[in-house]
Amino acid sequence: MQTNFSPEQLKEPHMQASEKILRTCVHCGFCTATCPTSLLLGDELDSPRGRIYLIKDMLENGRPATGEVVKHIDRCLSCLSCMTTCPSGVNYMHLVDHARAYIEQTYTRPLPDRLLRGVLRFVLPHRERFRLALAGALLMKPFRPLLARLPVLGSRLGAMIDLAPARFPSRIASEPAPVEGARRGRVVILEGCAQPVLKPSINSAARRLLARHGVETVDVKGEGCCGALVHHMGQEHDAHRFAKANIERWVAEMDGAGLDAIIITASGCGTTVKDYGFMFRDDPAWAEKAARVSAAARDITEYLSTLNLPAPARATGQTIAYHSACSMQHGQQIRDEPKKLLKNAGFLVKDVPEGHICCGSAGTYNMLQPEIAGQLKARKLANIARTRPQAVATGNIGCMTQLSSGSTIPFVHSVELLDWAYGGPLPEALAQTDFIQQPVQMAAAE
Ligand code: SF4
Ligand code: SF4
Repeated sequence: MQTNFSPEQLKEPHMQASEKILRTCVHCGFCTATCPTSLLLGDELDSPRGRIYLIKDMLENGRPATGEVVKHIDRCLSCLSCMTTCPSGVNYMHLVDHARAYIEQTYTRPLPDRLLRGVLRFVLPHRERFRLALAGALLMKPFRPLLARLPVLGSRLGAMIDLAPARFPSRIASEPAPVEGARRGRVVILEGCAQPVLKPSINSAARRLLARHGVETVDVKGEGCCGALVHHMGQEHDAHRFAKANIERWVAEMDGAGLDAIIITASGCGTTVKDYGFMFRDDPAWAEKAARVSAAARDITEYLSTLNLPAPARATGQTIAYHSACSMQHGQQIRDEPKKLLKNAGFLVKDVPEGHICCGSAGTYNMLQPEIAGQLKARKLANIARTRPQAVATGNIGCMTQLSSGSTIPFVHSVELLDWAYGGPLPEALAQTDFIQQPVQMAAAE
């Protein structure tokens, strides 16, 4: 694509990076076929190619974002399905990240929108604030129909309440587990922000599983949100602040006792941590440290795949649908590892039809764009049901929250299932099901 940025504009590093990206797009439109919003809304401006044109026009002309541009960029899920499809290697992620930051700098959103985004920004990246907000959402559940009828923000408030689990998640301290057998590695696991509140059992399972296979997990005090939630809202300053706090602590640990990897159990966070190197590429004080962190970042399934896990400790055989989060398959291009681990642990793993299409979770998207998110959720759940699974395994807390709020099929993190197969406790979501009673028979019947 031909671009017309002035030499003055190209002195700005963000503009320079975006110009390079724009030039790689050849307008072929292949990406429109796999874009969820393009499929649902049928509008070119809600396709990757349409958004690329809008962003190009906005940036090239140095114009403040308009309501029309904001509408179509806000509808983008940042699912990155378009990046997997694109034959020219267009880095849509970096382009839309730049556009979102540009929008926040040049556009004044309507007051209700600003209020809602301000609340999300204030609450979500902080564990204790999020815990309180969750308690509030639980109390509000009986008033949900009333709140959802409120003008302007009603549907979004309704969506937030729907996403809160039916009962308050129990607190489990995710303590490092004692290492068994020969020591094979030393890693840190990102605790993050929302996941330890919603599902502390995920990192506990990861710690137990790693310890059982000779890997020490260390606690790094003071780490927190990876910055993804605010980054996707265009809040670059906040995102960098969160990222720097983590980088500082992990680099200190790397330079101290040493780390073999930084393990991430939420693929949405993994995509962001792996991008720290790009985020700080022009910051002399942080570029090298950020690049080291990104190079050491691994999804838990990537790391487990290097350990050559033995045969499982239990008889398994249950039918599992594997839901690949967009941040896993498109953001990190991790496709086979989680399924291979589950298959090697004895599960019958089913691919979900239309697996490349987003479930509508997408960070804060399901709260900011509840109508589109709701349609995508219904479509995903229908596709999952077609595989007739006993449980659904996935690697991202956002998808688990989004999909389990509308389904009777239990959702578990892949690492919880693996931990159980290798001798750990049964995941809480499976406790009231016939998961243990009906293992091998159902798989054999397929
Ligand atoms: S990130 Fe997803 S929603 Fe956004 S343009 Fe690409 S495919 Fe469409
Ligand atoms: S597939 Fe790639 S090159 Fe083709 S229009 Fe989409 S982004 Fe541009």
